[in-house]
Amino acid sequence: MRLPVSRIEKLIYPVSFYRVKARHVKKACGELLARFGGKVPDRMEDLLTLPGVGRKTANLVLILSHASRDNICVDTHVHRIANRLGWVRTRTPDKTELALYQTIHRKWWPSVNLYLVTWGQNVCRPVYPKCGACVVSTLCPRIGVTRTSRT
Ligand code: SF4
Repeated sequence: MRLPVSRIEKLIYPVSFYRVKARHVKKACGELLARFGGKVPDRMEDLLTLPGVGRKTANLVLILSHASRDNICVDTHVHRIANRLGWVRTRTPDKTELALYQTIHRKWWPSVNLYLVTWGQNVCRPVYPKCGACVVSTLCPRIGVTRTSRT
C-alpha cells in the first residue's frame, strides 16, 4: 500500500491505459487488505466488487490464480474469433462468454483464451485476417469478414 501510483505506472508502463490501470491496482490492493484479509478472493461476485475488475479479468484470475476449470476468459480476440467461426452469435464479450459455456467442450474452457488470443494477434486479426494462410480456413464460415490479407 506504500507504493505510490506514479511508481505503479512506471512498473506497468508497456500495458495500454497504464495510468488508469495503475490507479485501479492501487485501489484494488486497498480493498483486498480492507475487505479480504489481503487475499485475492476466489468467487466471481467478490472479484467483481474490486476497482477495474470486470468479468474478463475475474475469469482470468479464477483460472490462473485459483486453477479454476469452470471459467472462460473472453476478451476482444475470443469474442471476435468465436463469432467469425460461427461458434456463437453475440454482440458483446460478456454474452460471448455465456454462450461459449453452451458451445465448446468443458475441457477447453480454461485454455480457450490462451489459444484464441495468440491466434487473434497473429492470424485471425481484427482487420485483414490472414484467411489465405489459416489452417482452419476450409472449416471457417468467416462470418462478418469482408476483407482479408493478401499475404
Ligand atoms: S479463416 Fe479467416 S476468419 Fe476464419 S479463423 Fe481463419 S483467419 Fe479467422
